Amino acid sequence: MATAKKYVYFFGKGRAEGRAEQKNLLGGKGANLHEMTTLKIPVPPGFTISTEACIEYVKRGRRFPPQLWAEIEADITKLERAMGKRFGDPKDPLLVSVRSGARISMPGMMDTVLNLGLNDKTIQGLVQRSQNPRFAYDSYRRLLQMFGDVVLGIKKIAFEGLLSEKKRQKGVTADTALSAEDLMDLVEQFKGVIRREAGREFPQDPKEQLRMAIAAVFESWNNKRAIEYRRIYKVPDNWGTAVNIQSMVFGNLGDNSGTGVAFTRDPSTGEKRLYGEFLLNAQGEDVVAGIRTPRPIVAMKKAWPQVYREFEQICRSLEHHYRDMMDIEFTIEDGKLYMLQCRIGKRTAHAAIKIAVDMAKERLIDQKIAVLRVEPWQLEQLLHPTIDPKAKVQKIAKGLSASPGAAVGKAVFTAEEAVEAAERHEKVILVRPETSPEDIAGMVAAQGILTARGGLTSHAAVVARGMGKACVVGCSDILVNEEEGYFEVANLTVRRGDLITIDGSTGNVILGEVALRQPEKLTGEFGTLISWADRFRKIGVRTNADTPRDAQVTRQFGGEGIGLCRTEHMFFEGDRVVAVREMILAKDADERRNALAKLLPMQKQDFKAIFELMDGLPVIIRTLDPPLHEFLPRKDEEIRKVAEGMGVSEKTLKDKVNSLQEFNPMLGHRGCRLGISYPEITEMQARAIFEAACELKKKGKRPFPEIMIPLVGHVKEFQIQRDIVKRVATEVMKAYGVKVRYLIGTMIELPRACIVADQIGAIADFFSFGTNDLTQTAFGFSRDDSGRFLPQYLDEGILQADPFAVLDEEGVGELMRIAIEKGRKAKPKLEIGLCGEHGGEPMSVDLCHRLGLDYVSCSPYRVPIAKLAAAHAVLKKQVKIKEMGEK
Ligand code: PEP
Ligand code: MG
Repeated sequence: MATAKKYVYFFGKGRAEGRAEQKNLLGGKGANLHEMTTLKIPVPPGFTISTEACIEYVKRGRRFPPQLWAEIEADITKLERAMGKRFGDPKDPLLVSVRSGARISMPGMMDTVLNLGLNDKTIQGLVQRSQNPRFAYDSYRRLLQMFGDVVLGIKKIAFEGLLSEKKRQKGVTADTALSAEDLMDLVEQFKGVIRREAGREFPQDPKEQLRMAIAAVFESWNNKRAIEYRRIYKVPDNWGTAVNIQSMVFGNLGDNSGTGVAFTRDPSTGEKRLYGEFLLNAQGEDVVAGIRTPRPIVAMKKAWPQVYREFEQICRSLEHHYRDMMDIEFTIEDGKLYMLQCRIGKRTAHAAIKIAVDMAKERLIDQKIAVLRVEPWQLEQLLHPTIDPKAKVQKIAKGLSASPGAAVGKAVFTAEEAVEAAERHEKVILVRPETSPEDIAGMVAAQGILTARGGLTSHAAVVARGMGKACVVGCSDILVNEEEGYFEVANLTVRRGDLITIDGSTGNVILGEVALRQPEKLTGEFGTLISWADRFRKIGVRTNADTPRDAQVTRQFGGEGIGLCRTEHMFFEGDRVVAVREMILAKDADERRNALAKLLPMQKQDFKAIFELMDGLPVIIRTLDPPLHEFLPRKDEEIRKVAEGMGVSEKTLKDKVNSLQEFNPMLGHRGCRLGISYPEITEMQARAIFEAACELKKKGKRPFPEIMIPLVGHVKEFQIQRDIVKRVATEVMKAYGVKVRYLIGTMIELPRACIVADQIGAIADFFSFGTNDLTQTAFGFSRDDSGRFLPQYLDEGILQADPFAVLDEEGVGELMRIAIEKGRKAKPKLEIGLCGEHGGEPMSVDLCHRLGLDYVSCSPYRVPIAKLAAAHAVLKKQVKIKEMGEK
């Protein structure tokens, strides 16, 4: 007999039906409530309705699955017994909170209803029990407000307007300054709003309230902002949310009560100290909503030393149990401490690294887990710009430093403006009084976020840290007028479009644009973590470096060689382009040789500098790749100037420019095709490389050139180019009387090359996948024009990711697999790497590891990301991490 599915799981009084590992079923929040209960941590009892129930509800066209309500009723009875109170009891009513809780935390994206169970009768019980009518009516008006908004879909402003009006009438600014009578009056007014706006009475039956609230939380899984959040963070739509029904504890019972949010370590720096905020006489939502600016957690030590000690103890045991930094929500009801939630805390990259390394040193975790604790893409934050300390700045305000890094942009005041500006490729700072989950798209579009209100755990702060965006919150110096698009600070007005700079590391707000600096060193815990990653990874990491300066950065970040030096970039420097143009305009090979002779010493000088910096490490230099017309002037004005400088007629130059135009230059006269048409170019480049290498070799250095031929599709193309390079190498080495170790290989960036990789592999020393071109040619998507249609492909889910950013495993990956197999069959020791933009993208690095590549090559600044991703690729399989919280 099939047993009916269980949907509801109880927790309370030291026993729980669920465990931390069950977050897929119970949601992150639910699973951890169950775990904390088992750990004997004070948690108000309650029950969790599983994510499966939510999915069923959605599937059944918004109807509860059979049995669900019966299970809920059974657990209400259990809860009543555990609390010694009854639902709807006019003397001492049981009140509950109803909260969403998905598998992963989606801060502020879904809905919550508090104080459920209050009605016109039970309110009297609450007045009696609390001996605090003000508190009781405040709780009731909050219920009406949340129920109206979340369950009945009435706009918040309908309630907030009345609240503000009441405060105005009374001449007070804080909600807490309203009296019991004021609140009682507001309760009646709020009921009127519900009657008017929803066309029904507020339900007086607590079970009906509960049923409706549960349905509303299920439905909030599909509200606009939750869908948007899932799209951004790639959370599947079919996960659903769990619902937690928990008996209420009150942080707003008077001055011996309060509520707060804390982290067991500093989520911004990673320092080992309790970090957080609390509000006296307030309910949980007041802290995260960022409406009132809370007090730092240490202030609690003074206010309630006993409670603080207990709190510290709980934090310690949670860290030991979960072996990670925890984010905790708590409430103190009349001097008694309760934990309302715990989860693995979100943190900046900086903190993630420090915490991982510190915890490994404290022996809470081992080095492998420490490496896995930091997501490769998070490192991007560390590679974020900071304000040049030497820059002169006009500081105009200071707020809380919520997420590090600096950002410059034009001030905008709404999420829509930010999104529109981003579409125009403009950089903006989103300035808001406070942010709400609706602002998410604007936060993604902006360079940084600045808010006037809210604390370090406010929505803006949490979301920005997750995105790694510079963010300053609680900047009470500024007065924001979002309608008219300006903010005021002291006697200064900053208007929409004015440039500002924010520093999320210091909280400073600066007028105008400030020069930003890239961090360039692998020091401290960052260096330690990457050195651990180095120990575990199998795949090498080289860089795409075109200049001696890039080579320097490569060494600083621990690159293991250069995987691609695009020589054409050298041609654009200074007045070299003049010689390049002479070469292009040459009438015949002799004239071309003359022009090339001018380029030779310049190229040689660059190569020498690069080889010297990379001493002992391989340097792949690619022969000329782009279509020649890229070097020629385009506009008439430019053509005239260049013609003058070169001593040719304007017409000659114009004719030449026109003759070089191609319909499809990306598939035109470029790559090795140039070297075949003009072998002198390949010859000059080979000469520059080997003369540079030989001169260094004579000085006792260890240059290791690898010469790479681009855009090869046929083995003969490679053969012709290889023979030129080989001949020149032999000549030059003979002339210098030294021997230099070198390799000659090819880019694999055309599907045909993949298919005939055995033929090419037989005569090439190495392959390097040019996945930019290979993606372009495999899909037939132009690299330059795919922006027109790719966004739609992503929106409609035709593609999961932009294939120019994340390597397409099924198609391009399969071509690579064929090439690797065939290439290595022909030459088992063939060195194979990748040098497209994908080399610094974690998922693509993982694929490269699985394909058995020897190395990836990426921008020098991405080396730590690639190294960490390469280590993850190995460790993910080895270590079955029993992450008890959410990941
Ligand atoms: C490639 O095609 O992936 C590559 C590295 O070469 P380029 O981007 O210069 O065409
Ligand atoms: Mg290419």
